[in-house]
Amino acid sequence: MTKSLLVTGGAGYIGSHTLLELLKAGYKPVVFDNFSNSCAEVLSRVEELSGCAIDVIEGDIRDKSALVRLFEARRLANEPVEAVVHFAALKAVGESVEKPTEYYDNNVGGTLSLLKAMDTCGIRKLVFSSSATVYGEPLRLPYTEDHPFAPTNPYGHTKAMVEQILKDWCHASDERSAVALRYFNPIGAHPSGRIGEAPQGRPNNLFPFITQVAVGKRDKLSVFGDDYETVDGTGVRDYLHVVDLAIGHVLAVAYMASGNRGFQGINLGTGRGTSVLELARTFERVTGRPVPYEILPRRPGDIAQAWADPTVAAALLGWRANRDIEEMCIDGWRWQSQNPDGYQSVVKK
Ligand code: NAD
Ligand code: UDP
Repeated sequence: MTKSLLVTGGAGYIGSHTLLELLKAGYKPVVFDNFSNSCAEVLSRVEELSGCAIDVIEGDIRDKSALVRLFEARRLANEPVEAVVHFAALKAVGESVEKPTEYYDNNVGGTLSLLKAMDTCGIRKLVFSSSATVYGEPLRLPYTEDHPFAPTNPYGHTKAMVEQILKDWCHASDERSAVALRYFNPIGAHPSGRIGEAPQGRPNNLFPFITQVAVGKRDKLSVFGDDYETVDGTGVRDYLHVVDLAIGHVLAVAYMASGNRGFQGINLGTGRGTSVLELARTFERVTGRPVPYEILPRRPGDIAQAWADPTVAAALLGWRANRDIEEMCIDGWRWQSQNPDGYQSVVKK
C-alpha cells in the first residue's frame, strides 16, 4: 500500500525537493502550506517532474482543527496519514531578532498545534526540520549530536525548543518516534533547473546571493569579514546539496517505519567545510560567471566555522552526502539562470 504522509511547508525550498524524492520512493504526500513564503507554481513543477498529482491543502499549522479535518478525511478515504514531515516555519535569523513573538508563535506554537492534532488522530511519527544553529559557538569541531545547545537568536531557540518538546512528546509514549534532522547549509537546486530556492527580496544567505550577482540582479557580493581564523579569513560552513538533504528525509521516514521509536537528533552535512571565497571561486570556475565581491565587516552573531560529523546519519539512516560543491554550484546556477526571478519568472510571461 502507498504510504500517505503529511508534508507541512511542502511548497518551500527544501519541502519541494523532498516531495519529489518522496514521490520517487512511492509515498503519497499531502502538502499543507499557508504559502507565506512560497507559491503554488512550485507544486505544479513538482507534478511535472514526477508525473504525479499532488494533494494540497492551503492552511496554517496553527489551525489545529484544519489539521484534524485533513487527518480524518485521509482516514475515511482509506489512506491514513502514517507520518508527518514538518518543514513549516519562519527561517530568517535577522527577522527573528526583530519579531521574536512571530517566530515563537509560528515555529513553536505551530508545532504544538500540529502535535496536538496528531495526538487527536493517533499519528505517532514526525520528521522535524532542525538546524545546526542549535549548537551555537562550537566548543569543538566537527559538531557531534551530543554537542551542547547554545542558540544565539530567537530562530535558533525555536528549533532547540521544538527539539525539547519532541523529546518530551516521545518520552510520554513509547509508541511515538521523532527524528530531528539538523541541517547544515543546504544549497543548490534540482538538476532539472525547474525547482530551486526563491528568496523574497534580498537574500539572507550566501549562495542565493552569489547566484543573484552572477545573473545580474545584484552588483557584487558582500563578504562578511575576512579576519576569521580560517583558511582564508572568511567564514567556513558545511554546504550540502538540497537533493542529498531531501533524500535524508525519505530515509528518516523509512527509519521510523521500520520500528525505531523515541527521539533522535541527526546531523545532515557533508563533514567538510568551505569558505565564502572558496564557494564563490568554485562557482565562478564551474559556471564561467564572474562574482565580484567586496569585503565588509563581520556580520553580528556569525561564528567563524562550522561543519558536521555525519557519522550518525550514516549509521542510523544509511545516509551520506553524495554531491560535491561543484555539483551544488552547477545545479544552483541552472535554476537561477533559467528562472532569474524565481517562480515569478513564469507568472510574468
Ligand atoms: P521555506 O520558507 O522555503 O519553506 C517553509 C514553508 O513553510 C513555506 O512554503 C511557507 O509558506 C510554509 N509555512 C511557514 N509557516 C507556515 C505555517 N504557519 N503554516 C503552514 N505553512 C507555513 O524554507 P526552507 O528553506 O524550505 O526551510 C524548511 C525548514 O527547514 C524550515 O523549518 C527551516 O527552519 C528549516 N531549515 C532551513 C535551512 C535552510 O538553510 N534553508 C537550514 C536549517 C533548517
Ligand atoms: N555570508 C557572506 N555574505 C552574504 C551572506 C553570508 O559573506 O551575503 C557569509 C556568512 O558570514 C557566513 C557564510 O557566508 O560565513 C554562510 O552564511 P549563511 O547566512 O548562508 O549561513 P549561516 O551563517 O546561517 O550558516
